[in-house]
Amino acid sequence: MQIDPRANSTEHLVAPAPLPHISRRALKRVKNPLPTPTVCRYCAGQVELVNNSAIYRREYGDWPFAYRCSDCDAYVGLHPDTDVPLGTLANPQLRAARNKSKAAFHARMKKMGLSRTLAYQWLAGRMGISIDQCHFGWFELEACAIAERFSTEPVSSTSMSKAFAKATSRA
Ligand SMILES: [Zn+2]
Repeated sequence: MQIDPRANSTEHLVAPAPLPHISRRALKRVKNPLPTPTVCRYCAGQVELVNNSAIYRREYGDWPFAYRCSDCDAYVGLHPDTDVPLGTLANPQLRAARNKSKAAFHARMKKMGLSRTLAYQWLAGRMGISIDQCHFGWFELEACAIAERFSTEPVSSTSMSKAFAKATSRA
């Protein structure tokens, strides 16, 4: 597991415009940060750091910023109080798939009464990926579809207690 080297540096953190600040504590919270996107992975356009009012017409959320392709409008948000992207740049189709599968996962998490950590362990286990890679912001369309399928499977009491036991043994 890696974190941004700036999290442990002593030099003054420079926040790229338009970010008001970057927090060292917030950087420490981001495990395995992805690099800052500079070139769009869809159209090779230039990626800019923007206030998300440029996308939603008004500021949205507590940390209203995004990396956005100036040509095709693919974008991704940022981890709060950092300049680290939440995932890879996403076009409208991928954004919709990520939102939909994440919502299904959250509903499943509630239904199973799992904590966030245990729920991600459960999902990673079902998907056969490492917990470090189990981020909706990293998922491509196929992974979104798989995550959604597992999240919407009927919950039986046996599968639930199995998942519990498995997740707890790994925690
Ligand atoms: Zn683009």
